[in-house]
Amino acid sequence: MGALQPEIERRGQRIFELVDEYPEPLFSKAGFYQRMMALSMRDEYFKVQLFRFVDVLASLHRGSDIVQHLDEYFADMRNGYAPLIRTGVRAARIVPWISGQLLRWNVSGMARQFIAGRNPQDVLKTLRKRRAQGIGFTVDLLGEAVVSEQEANEYATRCLELLEYLGRETRDWTDPLGKSTELFPVVNLSVKISALYSQMNPADPADAIAHLAPKLRPILRRARDLGAFVNFDMESYAHKNSTLELFKMLFMESEFRDWPDVGIVVQAYLRDAEDDLQDLLEWARQRGTRFGIRLVKGAYWDFEKIKSRQNGWPYPVFLQKPESDVNFEVLTRIMLENEAIVTSAFGSHNVRSIAHAQACAEKLGIDRSRFEFQLLYGMAGPVKRALVEMGYRVREYSPVGELLPGMAYLVRRLLENTSNEGFLRAKFSENVSEDELLRDPANLVTQGRNGGVQVEVSANGASLDTPPGDTYENAPLVNFVYPENQTRMLNALAHVRTQLGQKYPLVINGERVWTDTTIASINPSSPDDVVGHVAEAGIPEAERAVKAARDAFEKWRWTSVETRCRLLERAADIMHRRRFELSALEVYEVGKAWAEADGDIREAMDFCLFYAQQMRLLGRPRLTQHVLGEESYQHYWPRGVAMIIAPWNFPMAILCGMTTAALVTGNAVIMKPAEQSAVIGAMLMEIFEEAGVPPGLLNYLPGKGSVMGAHLVDHKDVDLIAFTGSREVGLRIFESAGKTREGQRQLKHVICEMGGKNAVIIDSDADLDEAIVDTIYSAFGYQGQKCSACSRLIILDEIYPRAIERLLNAAASLRVGNPEDPGVTVGPVIDGKAHKNILGYIESGKQEARLAFQRGDVPDKGFFIPPTIFTNVDPRAKIACEEIFGPVLSVIRARDLDEAFEIANSTEFALTAGFFSRSPANIERAKAEIVAGNVYINRSCTGAVVGRHPFGGFKMSGGGTKAGGVDYLLHFMVPRVVTENITRHGFAPETTPQYRDEFLPPR
Ligand SMILES: Cc1cc2nc3c(=O)[nH]c(=O)nc-3n(C[C@H](O)[C@H](O)[C@H](O)COP(=O)(O)OP(=O)(O)OC[C@H]3O[C@@H](n4cnc5c(N)ncnc54)[C@H](O)[C@@H]3O)c2cc1C
Repeated sequence: MGALQPEIERRGQRIFELVDEYPEPLFSKAGFYQRMMALSMRDEYFKVQLFRFVDVLASLHRGSDIVQHLDEYFADMRNGYAPLIRTGVRAARIVPWISGQLLRWNVSGMARQFIAGRNPQDVLKTLRKRRAQGIGFTVDLLGEAVVSEQEANEYATRCLELLEYLGRETRDWTDPLGKSTELFPVVNLSVKISALYSQMNPADPADAIAHLAPKLRPILRRARDLGAFVNFDMESYAHKNSTLELFKMLFMESEFRDWPDVGIVVQAYLRDAEDDLQDLLEWARQRGTRFGIRLVKGAYWDFEKIKSRQNGWPYPVFLQKPESDVNFEVLTRIMLENEAIVTSAFGSHNVRSIAHAQACAEKLGIDRSRFEFQLLYGMAGPVKRALVEMGYRVREYSPVGELLPGMAYLVRRLLENTSNEGFLRAKFSENVSEDELLRDPANLVTQGRNGGVQVEVSANGASLDTPPGDTYENAPLVNFVYPENQTRMLNALAHVRTQLGQKYPLVINGERVWTDTTIASINPSSPDDVVGHVAEAGIPEAERAVKAARDAFEKWRWTSVETRCRLLERAADIMHRRRFELSALEVYEVGKAWAEADGDIREAMDFCLFYAQQMRLLGRPRLTQHVLGEESYQHYWPRGVAMIIAPWNFPMAILCGMTTAALVTGNAVIMKPAEQSAVIGAMLMEIFEEAGVPPGLLNYLPGKGSVMGAHLVDHKDVDLIAFTGSREVGLRIFESAGKTREGQRQLKHVICEMGGKNAVIIDSDADLDEAIVDTIYSAFGYQGQKCSACSRLIILDEIYPRAIERLLNAAASLRVGNPEDPGVTVGPVIDGKAHKNILGYIESGKQEARLAFQRGDVPDKGFFIPPTIFTNVDPRAKIACEEIFGPVLSVIRARDLDEAFEIANSTEFALTAGFFSRSPANIERAKAEIVAGNVYINRSCTGAVVGRHPFGGFKMSGGGTKAGGVDYLLHFMVPRVVTENITRHGFAPETTPQYRDEFLPPR
């Protein structure tokens, strides 16, 4: 790279000279936009508020709503221009209609700066102007996020219409350079693959390809007939592999194999971009026809970083800006070196990146007519002009669409333009020197900790990365975007299938115990398949288990906290090693989709690791008040024998969570898994045995809840019952545990987590792209069988028609089937009893409400329930009050927010709730007024993460305990205080110790 530096500088200087001949500020439109951007760059808080306001604006129709939002977003500005904004808000309140429209007009002006036209006719005017300036075009259809197949089909139709129109209208247009014209058709269409299929699942590229290819072929055929070029844009990392595979598959088909006018994007900010590029080149050599690559840095950097951080994945993107710049140059060279097979387009506004491409091409002797620079509409106008003047080929990326879908695009552009690290801001706003802008990025990459990423710090100085004291890092989820993970899961499914039908004994006092009867655990997708036969415990086995646990407890209670924590950590290690196998087993035994099954295993690992970490903190006796002459410590003792009764819906996580909480706090455990997931319970037992759990400390005792379970709940030697399950059983346990039996040592303690009838509210200004996707996931993910699932959807009147239309279409597009198939999102319900029960509710619903949607195409075999949506539901109706635990959603229309909250809070449950809104004031109300243990704003109401979202409800949803929270373990222990008078005849040490070890009996 270094050898090219003088030439890069020379060319860069030349571009700058030309740019300076026609000076233009970064934000070319004067007035409102320019002022807003200038403020945004000065003040991060203002920027966030402004971009959020822009994001919501298009969905607001009334002037008064616009003013209301303006007030909410800006009225509390704390800086120098606060008075200005306050005056504006005051004025707007007086004349809301005029102010609202004025604002909309101004923001529309901002959007128009980046959107080349509202429709094909409109965009043509822009394209004509550019043509006169010697600039070509590629058009991109803006659209809302596609949540249903209907929307995807509409997008495909619009693509065809746009092609048709442009083909016709530009028939007599000629190439601006008049050279190498065969490589660069005039009409160039950029397509976003995710807009053509609503159910793209990273785990299942084959399904995506199977659905996308038939939609794309007619577009490609027409494009070819019209002599147009089609480019596949690249979106988030989750879609990258599917997009690449689709591209390679389609253009290898005999019909398209000899067609050169197709291209794809490579994102240089990705660490694996070079591998992908080499793979594409290899593919092209096999294909034998040239094709196009648009090299960009990438538009989703913040998103990828956030998503990876949340899921514990390695970052797929570089973390230092100069690393992306260096990679862009590396890939530029490779593309140009392969000019014989690749037509290169460099998508960048960065003069250094552009000058490098020029210098590199020159060195390789490639004529400047044989590659092109692509820049975005509304950005870096002077750079485009300079490039044209230098005789280079320039194409402008021209988005077409309406304001509402355009807002997401506008916000992306605003972010890019105001980014601290961006070239445009540095050059056009901060006037960074040309020398600096043209430096070799390789010299700017630093080798620091965090890969050069600065730790973010909040206003009060606390690190935003890790809250003080919270050092727990969650176990990562498996990222099924990687083919090796897909393969591992497929192999695990094949392997586990060979193990089905085995027999599993009870484990009591470390011994395997067989009984006369067994429980058959069956595969709900295919009820003829037995997953395993599990020995069934009766009363005699229960008695043996209590005795074994009692004996083991007396030893375990005196083992050190460290020993207990290490047991849990070893268990987590084993789960990690067996992760895919355990997930596969869940697919068979409880009908979980891949990602759901993996999430369950991840949660189980998190429980082990998080509780171990918490116990290390809690296990230290805590000095109470510092009083001279006296030493008082509070610490905790275990309660005794714990009975763990778990459900089947999170078969590993909940069983493991309650069990590990009991063990790490020093209790002995009798573990009763649900009958439907008893084989997974056996696996947990196996894992703990391998981890070295002492005999008798953990006993595996599947059996009938009503017989053996009830017996143990009542048992005088059982001190603690941790239960998660239905309200009916929970209340029975609660009542029974309240009675004191003869010989009972202490009060029984009950930890009881029960059901929910969770509501999601969609406010009138909500972002429907998100609200619909997240609601569908919350309601139908794992077939609605999560206690946190959304079963009531409350939609505000104003947004109701559009929301319901999109919701029903989205539900119609879900993939229902056997979850062995990686792309399936809705599988079977757990068993025949649940199946019958849910169908009964559906029948009630037909009497009580309007059946607005029901899928007709679910498999016959297996316990499949068609996803079902009722509308016109009375909040007092049975289907709106009782827990159904299946894929049935009741939709309720609310007049206003007061009514929506009232409905949401009207059931006897209080587990989870969701609220979608872009009004800061309404969000604050929701935070304060929604009655639920876990309130989620602008996201799905399921998927709690250990440590991050301590989980549990109150009212009839539970006793207020929070699994995965810092105070959960306290429920498994009794507090104890030890006080010593350390005064001797009026003399006491001056200082009291801060820390001491546990109180363990001397050995
Ligand atoms: C015509 C055209 C088409 C495009 N099509 C696509 C597309 O299909 N898919 C797509 O994803 N992008 C696409 N982009 C790219 C994207 O929209 C941005 O415009 C582009 O990344 C900005 O890069 P730059 O070279 O102009 O600016 P620069 O200011 O030099 O680079 C900014 C870029 O650097 C990267 N970056 C920022 N901070 C960091 C950091 N801390 N660590 C590592 N990297 C960082 C980001 O990619 C950011 O966008 C396209 C761009 C153009 C011009």
